[in-house]
Amino acid sequence: MTSTGGIGKAFKLQKFAGAYWRGDSNNPQLQRIYGTAFATQEELDAYLRQIEEAEKRDHRKLGREMDLFHFQEEAPGSIFWHPKGWTLFQTLINYMRRQQQKAGYMEVNSPDMMEKHFWELSGHWENYGENMFTTTLPDERVFCCKPMNCPGHVQIFKHGLKSYRDLPLKIAEFGKVHRYEPSGSLHGLLRVRHFTQDDAHIFITEDQIMAECLKINDLMLSIYKDFGFEDIFIKLSTRPEKRVGADHLWDKAEKALQDVLNEVTKRSNGRIKTALQPGEGAFYGPKLEYVLKDAIGREWQCGTTQVDFNLAGRLGAFYIDENSDKVTPVMIHRAMFGSLERFTGILIENFAGHFPLWLAPLQVVVATITSEADPYANEVVEAFKAAGLRVEADIRNEKIGYKVREHSLAKVPVILAVGMRDAEARNVSVRRLGSQEQTVMALADTVAAFKKEATPPDLG
Ligand code: ZN
Repeated sequence: MTSTGGIGKAFKLQKFAGAYWRGDSNNPQLQRIYGTAFATQEELDAYLRQIEEAEKRDHRKLGREMDLFHFQEEAPGSIFWHPKGWTLFQTLINYMRRQQQKAGYMEVNSPDMMEKHFWELSGHWENYGENMFTTTLPDERVFCCKPMNCPGHVQIFKHGLKSYRDLPLKIAEFGKVHRYEPSGSLHGLLRVRHFTQDDAHIFITEDQIMAECLKINDLMLSIYKDFGFEDIFIKLSTRPEKRVGADHLWDKAEKALQDVLNEVTKRSNGRIKTALQPGEGAFYGPKLEYVLKDAIGREWQCGTTQVDFNLAGRLGAFYIDENSDKVTPVMIHRAMFGSLERFTGILIENFAGHFPLWLAPLQVVVATITSEADPYANEVVEAFKAAGLRVEADIRNEKIGYKVREHSLAKVPVILAVGMRDAEARNVSVRRLGSQEQTVMALADTVAAFKKEATPPDLG
C-alpha cells in the first residue's frame, strides 16, 4: 500500500522505533511507525482490550510481583524457582501424582544422560538431534541429555520378561527434558530449554488402543475441569515428512487416533471441536493435541496422546502373547499438563495471579495491627498450620494499610488482620484478595472454612 488512506478508519498506532533506510546502517535513519487496522471499530476495540488484558496478566510480570521465579543471562531458557514458585510447582505434581496413582500408573525415574549411540538406535539422533544437548566426557564418550523420556521407559519395560497379562503397563515419570530452542524463541515459562513433563508411556496390544486412549481422554478432561478449563479443542496431527517406520504402520496409527477422536466427539455431543493438522505429528507417531481456552479466550496446547508402532520395536522391546510368540507392544505416549513449567505460566495468566486457594503458594497472611497482638498472631498462624494451610505472620512494625497493600500486590488470597480486640475475643478480620470488605469471624470458624476451601478438588 503506498497510501495510508487505504487503511480505513479502524486503526491504531502502537509504537515507533528508529530504522535505517533499506536496513543498511550507512543510510540515513528513519522513523518506523507500528500500527494495526481492522475492518470495524468493534473488532479493533476487542483486539486492543485483549492485548491490554494479556499485558496485565503477563506471567513474567506477575512472577516478579508474587516472587515465584526469575531468569538470568547465564542460564537462558532455564528457571530459578523461588520458594513460592516451587511450592506451586509441587502442588501441581502432587495433584497429578494422585491422579496417576488412582489410574494405575507406576511412577519411575530414568537417567538424564545416556550415550549417543543409544539415541541413534531410538531414532532421536537422526530426527531430533539438532534440538539435543550433548557433551563429551574426559574418556571421549559422547553423551546426550534426554530430550524425551520414552527411550528410558522402554528400558524399564524391557527389564524382566513381560507377558500379555502385564498389559496395559503404564509407566509415568515427572521427567526433566532438555531441548535446545533458539534464544529468540524463548519466552518466560512458556518456552524454555529445560522442562518437566508429566510424561507417561503405556505399553499395550493393538486391540487395547481405543480403550486406553479413551481412558486417557476422560482423565485429561476431568483434570482440566479441576483447573477450570472446560472449553477444550482437540487436534489430530498426522505423519510428518521426517519420520521413522513403515507407512502401513502409520496408516494403522492414524486410523486408530481418528477413531478415538470420532468417539470422543460423539460422547461429548459435539461440544468438543476437532481439527486436522497434516504433517504435524511426532517423528514416531501421530498425536492428539488438547487445546485449552483461557479466561480471556486465548488457546493453549497442553496435553498430547500419541500412538506409536515404532519405538518399542526399534529398541527391541517385546511381550509374550497367548501363543507364546514374541510380539512388539504398541506404545501410547501421553502428557496431560504437558510441560509443568509452561502449565504453571498458563495458570498464572489464566487466573491473573488470583489463584484458587488450593493452588496459592502462600494461602494466608496474619498481619498485626499493633505489636501487642504479636503473641495472638503467632497463635493464629499455628492454628492454620495445624490445619495444613500455608500461612505466614507479618508482625513488622508497619501500618496495617501498608501490609495489606503489599500482600495484595503479591496476590495472597487471604489476609487476616488482628489487633488487641480480636485477641481478646479470639476473632480475626478476614480480607479476601480483590475485595475491600472486611469480615470479623471467630478464629475456629475461619480455620475450618479455609481448610475446606483449600482442599484440592480431587480430595474434596
Ligand atoms: Zn514419549
